Amino acid sequence: VVGDYSGFEPQVGEIRAVRTFRVGPGGWLYPLFGTQPWRPGTNEATCRLVMDPEAHRSPEPECSCGWYAYSSAAAAAEYPYARYVLAVVACWGRVVAGTRGLRAQFARIEAIWLAPVVPPELDAQVAVNYPDVVRYDEREDMLSAHPPTRLDLGDPERVATPLVPPLVARTVAAAAVGFGAVPTSWIGRLPDGWWIWTAVLVATLLAALLPDGALHEATARRRRLICFALMLWMLAPLVGVVGVVFLRLPLVQIALLITVHRAAMHKLARTFPAPI
Ligand SMILES: [Zn+2]
Repeated sequence: VVGDYSGFEPQVGEIRAVRTFRVGPGGWLYPLFGTQPWRPGTNEATCRLVMDPEAHRSPEPECSCGWYAYSSAAAAAEYPYARYVLAVVACWGRVVAGTRGLRAQFARIEAIWLAPVVPPELDAQVAVNYPDVVRYDEREDMLSAHPPTRLDLGDPERVATPLVPPLVARTVAAAAVGFGAVPTSWIGRLPDGWWIWTAVLVATLLAALLPDGALHEATARRRRLICFALMLWMLAPLVGVVGVVFLRLPLVQIALLITVHRAAMHKLARTFPAPI
């Protein structure tokens, strides 16, 4: 089974991939989840998830350890940090790859781009700490000078083309939100109101159930959740007060929580130096 970060082991020597970092105090580059900064030069992955790291060579296909890197800048953009810090890393040794990126035993930062929002003093400290890393003022210049290795299964173009065009998906989602928000008596007054309502509900169900090989596992899972939430949102008013209290309020709460969480994450990604 080919997952996001495992499934096959390419044997092609050094692989170039992209990833983001947090720029911590003193200009050290930290992974998003972890408190050990990357060293200049070679970094070797060790597993923190097992009792006996000696008996477990990182990355193990069944584990989640190893240095993570993405096969494209678009895939790395999943994290808001990638808007401000993007690096090209060379990976080698034991490499486990999936559709979205790879995990490697050894990694070295080859090139880095820092957005202008990074304070100049911090930027200068990064340059001192990582003297061998080539620095770029433009992201695109870095990516064309150090192009990520194209892995057979990690083809970013193939992954980026969804079965349902995003505009169609957004239109259906907007219609579902709109139909759920207006009083049900209004839908009945619209010409063919309930037919359109049913069509939107069926489209939402189809979007949830259609297999879409172009989507990443995590993205497909998230889309299914959103579709089911939209269907609940549309159906809630049909069951009166019970629907409003037990279906609609929790949905509004969840949506609010997600919005607050995302806003906090974006704010943190723009904080320099990043709190470690
Ligand atoms: Zn492990």
